[in-house]
Amino acid sequence: MMSNEPYYTRREFIKTSARGLAVGGVSPFLNQSSLVSLLKKKDVVTYRTLGRTGLKVTMVSFGVMRADNPGLISKAIRMGINHFDTANAYQKGNNEKMLGEVVKKEGGRDRLIIATKVAPPRDKKTAQFTADATKDNFIRKFEEGLKRLQMDYVDILYVHNIMSPQMVFHEPTLKALTQLKKEGKVRFAGISVHQKEEEIIRETLKRDFYDVILTAYNFKKKNREAVRKSIASAFQKGIGIVAMKTQVGGYDVSSLGISPFQACLKWVLNDSHVACAIPGITNFNQLDENFAVMKQCALSQKDMKQLSYYSNFLNGHYCQGCQECVESCLQHLDIPEYMRSYMYHVGYKDNDLALGLLREIAHYSPANVCGSCESCVARCPNGIDIKRRMDKLRLLQA
Ligand code: SF4
Ligand code: SF4
Repeated sequence: MMSNEPYYTRREFIKTSARGLAVGGVSPFLNQSSLVSLLKKKDVVTYRTLGRTGLKVTMVSFGVMRADNPGLISKAIRMGINHFDTANAYQKGNNEKMLGEVVKKEGGRDRLIIATKVAPPRDKKTAQFTADATKDNFIRKFEEGLKRLQMDYVDILYVHNIMSPQMVFHEPTLKALTQLKKEGKVRFAGISVHQKEEEIIRETLKRDFYDVILTAYNFKKKNREAVRKSIASAFQKGIGIVAMKTQVGGYDVSSLGISPFQACLKWVLNDSHVACAIPGITNFNQLDENFAVMKQCALSQKDMKQLSYYSNFLNGHYCQGCQECVESCLQHLDIPEYMRSYMYHVGYKDNDLALGLLREIAHYSPANVCGSCESCVARCPNGIDIKRRMDKLRLLQA
């Protein structure tokens, strides 16, 4: 059985690193001068081991997806965050480009853990990859990303957004990952999962192929207990677990006088089977707020209250992706994907992201068909006003 306790403090980590715990041929650890400079800092950085990869990742890592300020990434590196997560698709490739430029400028590529993702073409309606999802296409997409990153290799390459258990062991994708690993361009392979987490994680355990799973996980998920158990099973098998969507949409609730985001992160990180979380960070305040969780990760009474207030707010706001509404919609629209776009629009305030997803959905699930319904009969058991949101998304598209 693997253990993710106790956490490493910065000092312990540096001592351990200095003894030379390099894994897999490429050291993710600091060189001696970096070690000395880090020892001078007062920030508390804690690390956990990412399953059998042996990588020591900062418990609070950095979801780069929506960041567009290179200074923010620079500051995070200097604070000691060592794991950065991007994807081919984020900001149409510009996210990889920005991350690559910052890493080049800051130096020390070998002390950082860089993760990116490739999304093979899929039919969202059937949740299957299409015939275009070939080995060569996957490799080409990855290599374009690697060029944007200006790197020779990435530490983790995820197959992006696995939507069904049938997509997990897609042979052309496995062949591409195997080749890229052999060529030294990818150290570890993983999948990312936004929905049907339990089923997909359990499917992943059937073969000994993937080393890392990046999964949605937060205190508000209705299936959180099932996800927790599947994460524990994956952990026992040596798979490294990275958590995302930890802050449940990141809705701005400051006007309600609450600040729940540290508590959200702590809730996830209190599961010791989770190696780290990758909250999306877009400004310096969020960076400081998330970073501070590494200093004090225990959930206090105050945190529990924050979670309770945020939970109340999220009723009627947060889409669980459970798909229970789809049958009730007269046109069987892919409402969970529309709700995801809505979260990008209202929660993240990122209209490009919202519109990009709407374009992806449009070919099999066009929102304009809503106009032909006399009244909306789509129902959400979690209190989401589907009609109001669909109207708002149609306005955004207009
Ligand atoms: S809108 Fe409601 S029913 Fe539909 S996926 Fe979201 S939470 Fe589930
Ligand atoms: S109006 Fe409601 S029931 Fe009709 S297509 Fe739109 S979401 Fe579905």
